[in-house]
Amino acid sequence: MIRVSDISLYNKCPRMCYFLDKGHPLAKDTSPEYLERIILKELALTYNPAFNNVDKLSFLGCELDRISKEIRIIYPVELSGINDDTLAISISNARSCLETICSNLSSNGDFYANEEVEVEPLLRSEKFGLTGSPDKLIKINDVFIPSIIKTGKMPENGIWQSDRLQLTAYAILAGEKYNAPVERGFVEYARWGKVRDVVIKRHERRKVIQIRDKIKKIQDGFMPEKPEDAPCERCGYTGICDVKSTLASRFF
Ligand code: SF4
Repeated sequence: MIRVSDISLYNKCPRMCYFLDKGHPLAKDTSPEYLERIILKELALTYNPAFNNVDKLSFLGCELDRISKEIRIIYPVELSGINDDTLAISISNARSCLETICSNLSSNGDFYANEEVEVEPLLRSEKFGLTGSPDKLIKINDVFIPSIIKTGKMPENGIWQSDRLQLTAYAILAGEKYNAPVERGFVEYARWGKVRDVVIKRHERRKVIQIRDKIKKIQDGFMPEKPEDAPCERCGYTGICDVKSTLASRFF
């Protein structure tokens, strides 16, 4: 079974999929920036009630206080080894985003008017050999639409290509589970409090299937080529990655 997270990883670098499958875990990020992203993601789950609150800033400030107390329970693995001072810096950085978030929430009225059915539902398709959990499922006209929360940079228009692939994979899974084609999805940019509505395109469905098949081959033992634009300077596999690709992989 291929995970949607494998597709995202493949999109960064196919070789990362190879090393992960061979039992080498991804390097743990313990930076305050990573922690800040986790906190913002958790905070984004409260934007819907915040939208309906008269004093959005106070509401989100209280939610951030709550999250600062609960975050170690919700993310015990991610936060193991992170001290309280680093956590306090990350909470403070997240707090500095609150005014921007509040000023933008009002523009998402249509999105927050929808019914949020489930947070992090596990979707699994034996037929497609794919599994994963979108951040939310939103119900619109009896169709279950995936929404993903992103805590990094927001593009000026639309969404990043990597997010599009991830969202498409979830749309395929949600369509399969609820037996209704999913033609759109949402990306919530937590740092800005903005939501982008995305049309799921046919060529991206095709690309998800193609990547799924390539990951299957990687799991069968093929070492993929090192991509020219691979993010090696930020990769924990540099020490074990400097190997020649096999002849077979050149045709892969
Ligand atoms: S070191 Fe570079 S090529 Fe190797 S897995 Fe990491 S990003 Fe990919």
